[in-house]
Amino acid sequence: MAVCQENRHRLHIFFLPFLAPGHMIPMVDMARRFTEHGVKSTIVTTPLNVLRIQPSIDHFNNSSENNWPIEILQIKFPSSYFEPGENVSSFQSPSITGELLASMNSLRQPFEELLEKHRPDAIVSDALHVWSPDSADMFGIPRLVFHGCGTFPILVSTKLMDHIPLDDGDDEKKFVVPGLHHRIEMRVSELPGYVLKRNIWTDDMVRGYRRSYGVVMNTFTDLEKDYIRDDVATSPSSWEVGPLSLCNRDKTDMILRGDVIADGFSATCMDWMDSMKPKSVLYVCFGSCGKFTIPQLKEILSGLDASGYPYIWVVKSVGGTHLSEWLPEEERRSKKGLILTGWAPQVLILNHNSIGGFMSHCGWNSCLESITAGVPMVTWPLFGDQFFNMKFIVDVVKVGVEVGDMVCSEIAEERRVMTRWQIEKAIRRVMDGGDEAVAMRKRVSTLRSLSLKAVEEGGSSFNNTRRLINELMKLKHDKA
Ligand code: UDP
Repeated sequence: MAVCQENRHRLHIFFLPFLAPGHMIPMVDMARRFTEHGVKSTIVTTPLNVLRIQPSIDHFNNSSENNWPIEILQIKFPSSYFEPGENVSSFQSPSITGELLASMNSLRQPFEELLEKHRPDAIVSDALHVWSPDSADMFGIPRLVFHGCGTFPILVSTKLMDHIPLDDGDDEKKFVVPGLHHRIEMRVSELPGYVLKRNIWTDDMVRGYRRSYGVVMNTFTDLEKDYIRDDVATSPSSWEVGPLSLCNRDKTDMILRGDVIADGFSATCMDWMDSMKPKSVLYVCFGSCGKFTIPQLKEILSGLDASGYPYIWVVKSVGGTHLSEWLPEEERRSKKGLILTGWAPQVLILNHNSIGGFMSHCGWNSCLESITAGVPMVTWPLFGDQFFNMKFIVDVVKVGVEVGDMVCSEIAEERRVMTRWQIEKAIRRVMDGGDEAVAMRKRVSTLRSLSLKAVEEGGSSFNNTRRLINELMKLKHDKA
């Protein structure tokens, strides 16, 4: 889809991601998507995050047909809060605290200096940069919000923020989330802190939505058709432009996406997967920040082994427990599964024909990536919006099963330990080829086809992207 326009007729958008993989990766994908539609895209981030995204942008720029490279501009982080990695994934705890968000304010001044110098026509900012509506106003340009999750989790959060049905102290009693098209039962122990206790940052974010030109969503109409029109409370307009990960079409795109992969990782992993039967392998990964206590890690290992299915388990040790502390090298080698550390090429793995299931923490990106690969899920939410995403996967689109009743917390020690038997049982339900598994596989395969159609020329997300760009172009011309 080569779209060439003279520079002055091109729309120039600044993309300002939040400094966490689950927010930054889809925004980089979005910049690529918009560039393919003729936009001049500039990603603004800090030096260590540039190192994470530069290889994939270079690959895109070198292979892109449209001759308009994506530009990356660096802003130095004036606050020391984000040292050493300048990214939430390098923190001991993945909690998005008020202090962390306050440190993000220090990006405002260098960002505005770049706005002054480059004068883009619009900003796509992560919702967590709560100051960005002011920056946009200062330069008289529209600000679009991106918050990295789907419509359903946002809707459930906002409904629950207004109305927590239980206050009798029993956090395990189920209640029905009010005002949804599906019957969704939850427990108070599954709710994240930002829902249980409103804070100044969530209020600022909601105010930010309302002051924005609209929201750009990483979802697609056919996936969330029952909920998209209900999201009007939070923002003036929304454009569903996903699944964004589908812009990674070739193998190199998938390998370079998100971060630098350990040497030899892809080769080891690919050779191993190539030797497995179709749909026989369970892929296990709990996102960029999911960590566990050692007893829980051991239960997971026992559950995986007891299931009898081959598996690839990507264990994150950043800021957490190192693999060698609980699993000696020889024991690891003797396993039927491949246990790896570091950054995995998740989209590449999920799309390999040997993968038959995905045990996931239910980050929104991981849910979408599983759906676009046509892989059913074993759901294991940890914190934040992941419990709402899990409900979407299990109760709305019905392409996954729960491991058990979990407790929502960023702190691994606060979570209830899932036993090897619970884990084994959930894996079997997805992998065993019984009626339930077959029905899930059929549903996820249908959703996969719909997701591919959505981003093709003429599909809903393709058209929404065009529509948004045309609107922004009109604003640019009216201003000129
Ligand atoms: N990811 C990856 N390799 C890893 C871990 C994560 O490629 O080893 C990617 C994954 O494909 C997804 C993103 O990182 O695009 C994680 O986002 P998600 O919303 O699933 O979870 P989060 O990390 O934000 O909790």
